[in-house]
Amino acid sequence: MFGKILIANRGEIALRVQRACRELGIKTVAVHSEVDREAKYVKLADESVCIGPAQSALSYLNIPAIISAAEVTDSEAIHPGYGFLSENADFAERVESSGFVFIGPRADTIRLMGDKVSAKDAMKAAGVPCVPGSDGALPEDPKEIVRIARIVGYPVIVKAAGGGGGRGMRVVHTEAALVNAVQMTRTEAQAAFGNPMVYLERFLENPRHVEIQILADQFKNAIYLGERDCSMQRRHQKVIEEAPAPHIPARLISRIGERCADACRRFDYRGAGTFEFLYENGEFFFIEMNTRVQVEHPVTEAITGIDIVQEQIRVAAGEKLRYRQKDVTFRGHAIECRINAEDPFTFVPCPGKITFYHPPGGPGIRVDSHIYQGYTVPQHYDSMVGKVIAYGDTREQAIRRMRIALSEMGIEGIKTNIPLHQELMQDARFVEGGTSIHYLEKKLAEKGEVKR
Ligand code: ADP
Repeated sequence: MFGKILIANRGEIALRVQRACRELGIKTVAVHSEVDREAKYVKLADESVCIGPAQSALSYLNIPAIISAAEVTDSEAIHPGYGFLSENADFAERVESSGFVFIGPRADTIRLMGDKVSAKDAMKAAGVPCVPGSDGALPEDPKEIVRIARIVGYPVIVKAAGGGGGRGMRVVHTEAALVNAVQMTRTEAQAAFGNPMVYLERFLENPRHVEIQILADQFKNAIYLGERDCSMQRRHQKVIEEAPAPHIPARLISRIGERCADACRRFDYRGAGTFEFLYENGEFFFIEMNTRVQVEHPVTEAITGIDIVQEQIRVAAGEKLRYRQKDVTFRGHAIECRINAEDPFTFVPCPGKITFYHPPGGPGIRVDSHIYQGYTVPQHYDSMVGKVIAYGDTREQAIRRMRIALSEMGIEGIKTNIPLHQELMQDARFVEGGTSIHYLEKKLAEKGEVKR
């Protein structure tokens, strides 16, 4: 096992990884920007290194600074968390060529999955069902594009091969709008991701977002840890996640889960990973793979009892996976609410000083957050300040516990989206379970209408 790990991230995930390391008896190095210097998790780490000013590009995305920090502290491995450099194949390569272990898959796997066209091709070859669409990237010839879209069938969605974070996508309903939309997406993709390649998919009108968590080691052992439903989204950003996904038969989950584990064995996947699918009318359609730990991993930990971050570290250290598929059992239900520093109605980010903080507790409640009374939420980063996870024997119990937790939670000095979560926990359709990815946007739009 490693003696010391550098955590190349900030906020709640930096603290989460630190806790996993401490439990495994591993020393930690926190790297931080100038504005994060006073953060408690930085003080709690065994060592800390300032890697640059507040702007991410000069600190959390600064590869040479992070590698030097690993060198001066004699770290053995680097955990990238999520976001920032976690899915940057060049970073993974630099980490390994500098003599450290990258806690994640190999650089070539990250590169393969980072390009959505090559990822889809690989999945098709591995027998993972994909959204019907163009075979690979779209050609230049407009006539050819029109022909492909006719075969796929309208509405279609034009997507950038290099896209991410919900950007680089355009829905097209009619042939008249197609060629222009493809051109616009190409131009945007070139500007935003440095890659003009686009492809085309059937636009599914009422799907749910259901994803499969997997774990794999370097000896071709791979297991799936069940599914998560992340359909409650705003602007393609997840707001609430849960496990298991309501009303999906267990046999469908095990069938798709086996496919994902098989695919991992096929491309020698190593570490934790997530296969994201759209689920409609009892069918799964692959959209992309995330080659890192995800924000919503705690709901899976709650229902399986497996610590995903610790397992990530163990397999990166060369250990064999400690679980076989038959060892994985699912019990109860877990729901996660992402707590953001933002206005609950306008969604405008609201950084600032937290003047009062009271976290919830009690049976089945887990709070993953780095904030405390007196902490200042910087304006430079993502607005998520923590996550509340409620676990219960049943979904009903998890919802009841979440309602209590949200009512207990006190954060003053900044605005948060807790009121939105409280409203959703009372929402009849949410309580029923199984809403589509468009549900929250529609609900918010209707609320806006009523107000006006
Ligand atoms: P990103 O990497 O930017 O997150 P994804 O491919 O994961 O992009 O898609 C993000 C979201 O966009 C999905 O969760 C879904 O809401 C929507 N989406 C993507 N592809 C389709 C599709 N073929 N039909 C309908 N919605 C889609």
